[in-house]
Amino acid sequence: MTTLVHTLGYPRIGAHRELKKAVEAYWQGELDRDALEQAGKRLRLTHWQEQRDAGLDVVTVGDFSFYDQVLDVSVLVGAVPPRFGQVAGDVDLDTGFRMARGRAPSGEPAAACEMTKYFDTNYHYLVPELHTGQRFRIASQRLFDEVQEAHDAGHPVKVVLTGPLTWLWLAKVKSEGLERLALLDALVATYGEILARLGALGVAWVQLDEPALVQDLPSAWQRAFQAAYRQLQSAPVKLLVATYFGALGDNLELALALPVAGLHIDLARAPQQLDPVLERLPQDKVLSLGAIDGRNVWRADLRALAAALAPAKARLGERLWIAPSCSLLHVPVDLAHETRLDPALKRWLAFARQKLDEVATLARVVDGSEGAADRQRLEEADSALAARRASRRIHNPRVGERLARLEAADTRRDSAYAVRAVAQRRHLQLPLFPTTTIGSFPQTQAIRQTRREFKQGSLSREAYEARMREEIAQVVARQAALGLDVPVHGEAERNDMVEYFGEQLDGFAFTQNGWVQSYGSRCVKPPVIFGDVERPQAMTVRWSEYAQSLTDKPMKGMLTGPVTILQWSFVRDDQPREVSCRQIALALRDEVADLERAGISIIQIDEPAFREGLPLRQAEWQHYLDWAVACFQLSAAVVRDETQIHTHMCYSEFNDIIGAIAAMDADVITIETSRSDMELLDAFHDFDYPNEIGPGVYDIHSPNIPTVTWMVDLMDKAAEKIPAERLWVNPDCGLKTRGWAEVEPALANLVEAARLLRQRF
Ligand code: GLN
Ligand code: ZN
Repeated sequence: MTTLVHTLGYPRIGAHRELKKAVEAYWQGELDRDALEQAGKRLRLTHWQEQRDAGLDVVTVGDFSFYDQVLDVSVLVGAVPPRFGQVAGDVDLDTGFRMARGRAPSGEPAAACEMTKYFDTNYHYLVPELHTGQRFRIASQRLFDEVQEAHDAGHPVKVVLTGPLTWLWLAKVKSEGLERLALLDALVATYGEILARLGALGVAWVQLDEPALVQDLPSAWQRAFQAAYRQLQSAPVKLLVATYFGALGDNLELALALPVAGLHIDLARAPQQLDPVLERLPQDKVLSLGAIDGRNVWRADLRALAAALAPAKARLGERLWIAPSCSLLHVPVDLAHETRLDPALKRWLAFARQKLDEVATLARVVDGSEGAADRQRLEEADSALAARRASRRIHNPRVGERLARLEAADTRRDSAYAVRAVAQRRHLQLPLFPTTTIGSFPQTQAIRQTRREFKQGSLSREAYEARMREEIAQVVARQAALGLDVPVHGEAERNDMVEYFGEQLDGFAFTQNGWVQSYGSRCVKPPVIFGDVERPQAMTVRWSEYAQSLTDKPMKGMLTGPVTILQWSFVRDDQPREVSCRQIALALRDEVADLERAGISIIQIDEPAFREGLPLRQAEWQHYLDWAVACFQLSAAVVRDETQIHTHMCYSEFNDIIGAIAAMDADVITIETSRSDMELLDAFHDFDYPNEIGPGVYDIHSPNIPTVTWMVDLMDKAAEKIPAERLWVNPDCGLKTRGWAEVEPALANLVEAARLLRQRF
């Protein structure tokens, strides 16, 4: 009666980002197609072997991709938008790349498909597009070839595919009047053919990922789930419907009633669903329990998990499977390659490779068949966890005491915006339509090189700081020449807006190689928040102070906000996210106070990740928004009335969170609007948003230089919705990815646009 052990998916990038290197070399013409395919095959074989070595009963096929697994399903079912011009025959590799990034070594360039975050992760998928006349057909052999490859290597195989409902749920309709669900029958028919082909290849189990089941589904979609899976019932394979990233909640009955052979549930995010699922699971179904956290990097408490899973084993016997909670795509590959991590901390962690060992041991312990190696692993986990719980490096009593002493007044400015605005106008003396930028200026080769040399130790601190000061002086001079009203120091010293702060805060750790795929060949290396966060000393003050000394204009200080720092890090699992966030907010509060003391009278606290922190279920939004807003305010509400707080968010959806945005009570918010023709200001207008707004008029994602009239036009539209005296003129976002050759004329036009506006208002 052994428990089957599997994983929902494994990272594909390789322990040393081999995939990134191969794919980018292929795009640049340095690697030919065969060599790229070989590199992919080598990675798959390595990853399957690692799964077998760890003791998994099946390897997972279908989680590999040269770019994105959702895109691969679009290709597999032939959902290629017409502009890519592939109507018949198999869709080739380069067409997939063109869909992903607009161009490839062969084929005509075309507008890439939209990309967006996969549920609440930092992984981005390519949004499937649906057009009128949409047909589906099997349009790629890749999946079947990979199954063959795994069989040839002698592995027992389970195939994974994004399920039909979730694929459709993630898709966007591109033709008016088209209804996504109207395409379901045709789509499911093609899924049926795919499953038949897999069955013919001897595949016994297919895992269909349906994380849409942990979201609020309209009833039409709930019914569609039933209908689709009834249609797939006759497939010659067993289906495992995989849910993750949260609880099934009101979709629980629906999920249990689907006519499939098994269900996977996430116990890391939603352990409370184990009992109800156990009670109601039909006799003929397998239950796969996602016990090991696939979204975080902490070592599991194997003994506690084994105890929690014992009743499931007693009840289900062989019908119990054990797995990580979700695909391991969302964690770094292998802890073994971390040679510089503090050994004490390293023992507390588990990356994908270690998580495979954890699931395998957990299953054997649950079965009562553990061997000496398992017992050792249990003991190691016990002692590492005990050490972590007791560690003085995690617990900083000062931080807890400060948090306990906080009062409501600490998250409120002294006066209401209207009063502050008067004080700020007097203090700052800014013109109507003040001009500013979002913070960063072009990060030139020379800047990157200087930072690299300093980090590697070949440049002394003095020399580094001197060069950074030169850079700041140059950036300030250019802004003066352009005539910008509120200059910035340019952020030359920052590699990344989270890492820069994390490196200076206690409680954060950094890996050498902890890469996680973000999109395509792009990987990120999120910091690990392991302990109470405290700021040992000022982080940005000397740069801002120096920049201010070079100008009479009010220099804007620049910080990353608490929610964004939290959101883009691996977080502690031993306390709620909101507590970690409050600690970060306190550290930033000290920085804000120090900046003010140093004579900085405008401070921007960036929160580009504020929206992506929203929970997957609407019912949980308010709680999140409450604490996220409070954290922002905790970091900001320490300054006098005449000090102006800015925030910046780079997206274009505010309707459903406008109340929270207003509650943040930033004196000025700068947002991304240039592409949306100021339409998104409607949300602010309809809400009677009371404070100042800088709607971006320069699309920094494009190399095009915006003209004066274009920007004046946009601001005219803005002024129809927001009173002119509360409007700022600025770009959409930071300028770090652009070159000076574009930035200088663009900002000159922007300043000229503001000048013309002032004459008219
Ligand atoms: N201040 C940052 C910059 O200008 C903001 C970046 C962001 O919002 N993503 O680069
Ligand atoms: Zn931005």
